[in-house]
Amino acid sequence: MNSETCVICRKHTGLELVPPGGYIYEDGHWMVCHADVKWGPLGTLFIESRRHFLDYSEMTAEEAASLGGLLKRVYEALREHTDAERIYQLSTMEGQPHLHMWIVPRRREVPEKGVKFLSRDDTCEEEDAVALVEKLRQAIK
Ligand SMILES: [Zn+2]
Repeated sequence: MNSETCVICRKHTGLELVPPGGYIYEDGHWMVCHADVKWGPLGTLFIESRRHFLDYSEMTAEEAASLGGLLKRVYEALREHTDAERIYQLSTMEGQPHLHMWIVPRRREVPEKGVKFLSRDDTCEEEDAVALVEKLRQAIK
């Protein structure tokens, strides 16, 4: 698979899978968006590398240096705008061989934790996702 057939690369060009409310944050290395509303609870985000590569081992020094600060800002924004008790981060690259992180807030009222929480079939409403995206866009700069 190359960048022309990769779904995440095509998503970055706006050709498919346009995220709810559009991208939240973009810089030279990273793009952040809300997941499709069928794929997780409200506030489920993707942090995607702008460049096509498999995993953390292939980051440039600049990508590696900038990721920690971005993760901090994303986590701060989710803490401020959701009632997450914990925020999960998961990367498998099994669906697409392009570095992306699932960022999934677990709310206080959700009884399942860890892998049991991640295996729930949670969804959210498009209008709620778009409203949250607007808040996160202001918070993640
Ligand atoms: Zn790609």
